[in-house]
Amino acid sequence: MNASSSLWHSVVIPVYNEEGNIRELVDRLVPVLERTGKTFEIVFVDDGSRDGTSSMVRALSTRDARVKLIRFARNYGQEAAVQAGILRASGRWIVQMDGDLQNPPEELGKLLEKRDEGYEIVYGVRVKRKDPLHRVLASRLMMWFMKRVLSIELPEDVTTFRVIEGNTARLIAGLPEKKKFFSALAVWTGARSTSIPVGHAARTRGVTKYGLGRLINHTFDLMVGFSTRPLRIIGGTGAVVAAFGLGFGLFRIAQKLLGADITMGYTSLFSAVVILGGLQLIALSVIGEYIARIFIQIQGRPLYNVAEEIGFAESADSQGAAGPGPADVGAESGRPSGDVARALKSQGTDG
Ligand code: UDP
Ligand code: MG
Repeated sequence: MNASSSLWHSVVIPVYNEEGNIRELVDRLVPVLERTGKTFEIVFVDDGSRDGTSSMVRALSTRDARVKLIRFARNYGQEAAVQAGILRASGRWIVQMDGDLQNPPEELGKLLEKRDEGYEIVYGVRVKRKDPLHRVLASRLMMWFMKRVLSIELPEDVTTFRVIEGNTARLIAGLPEKKKFFSALAVWTGARSTSIPVGHAARTRGVTKYGLGRLINHTFDLMVGFSTRPLRIIGGTGAVVAAFGLGFGLFRIAQKLLGADITMGYTSLFSAVVILGGLQLIALSVIGEYIARIFIQIQGRPLYNVAEEIGFAESADSQGAAGPGPADVGAESGRPSGDVARALKSQGTDG
C-alpha cells in the first residue's frame, strides 16, 4: 500500500495565523530533515488563517517543492487540520509539530533517534513548559479529570510534537468518528509508544489559540467520546439518594411506632421526593447507557487493529486486515473532504 511510498518523513504542521513563524520554522526544520539522509515533505495545513500564512507557505513551496500546502476554507480547528495533513501525507513516518516554533525543530533528532529503538509512536514531553500559568493549570486540570474521574489513561504531559508510524497515523485520521482524540486513539491502536523529554520554547510571535474555555470543551468531548463512566456516576448517585430517602422514611416510621414525639407531615413528602429523585437519576443513567451503545456503534471504530500476520498467502499490510486498510480508509474519507475544502476554496471567500 502506501507504506512503501518513496517518501520517508512527512512533517505535518497545522497553522492558524502564524505568518511570523513559518519562514524561520522551515529554515530551521529543513537542515534537520536533510541531516537524516531520508526523503521528506513538509505539509502545512492552513486552518483558515486571516493573515499572510498561506501566501508565505506558497512562496516557500515555489522555492522548495518539498514544502506543501493544504489551505482550509475557514478555521476548522487544529485536530481537523492535523487530520487533513496526515491523510494527504504519504510518508512512511509522520512527524507532527506546531507551527509556532514552540517545538524547536532541532529537537526532532531526539524523537527520531528514540523511534529507531523500535517504537511506532514517540511523543515529545516538555520538561520545562514555557506557557503562561493559566494555560498550564488548565491543562493540568483537564489531565487530572481524565485520569482520576474518567480513567482515560493518556500518555502524560505529551505535546503535539511527535513521530508516528505512517499507517497508524492514517488509520486514526481515517476513522469515521468526527470528534477525534489522537493520543487516546493512539492508545486504542495498541501502537508501541514511548515519550522523551524535548525542549519547549515560549511563543515569540503570535498568540495562543487555547483559552480555558476551549480546554474545558475539549475535556468534555473526550469524556463523551471515550467514557461512559459519568452515566454510571449518575446512576450510582441516584441509588444512594433513593436509598437515603427510603432509610429516612423507615427511620421516621420506626420512631413514630416507638412513640417518639415528631412533627407530622413532612416526612412522607420528603421521603417521596428524595426516593423519586433517586429513581429518576437511575432511570436517566439506564437510558444514557442505551444511548451510549448507539453512539459507540455509530462511531464505527473497527473492533481491532492487526499488528502483524504471518503465513497467509496474500500478506496484508501491517494493519487493517479487518476491512479496508488504513490507506483505503484514508482515501475513502480523506479525499472527499479534501475535495470539499478545495471546492469551497475555489469559490474564493477570503484572500
Ligand atoms: N492551530 C490551528 N488551528 C486552530 C488553533 C491552532 O491550526 O484553530 C495551530 C496553531 O497555529 C499552532 C498549533 O495549532 O501551530 C498549536 O496552537 P497554539 O500554539 O495556539 O496552542 P498552544 O501552544 O497554546 O497549546
Ligand atoms: Mg503554541
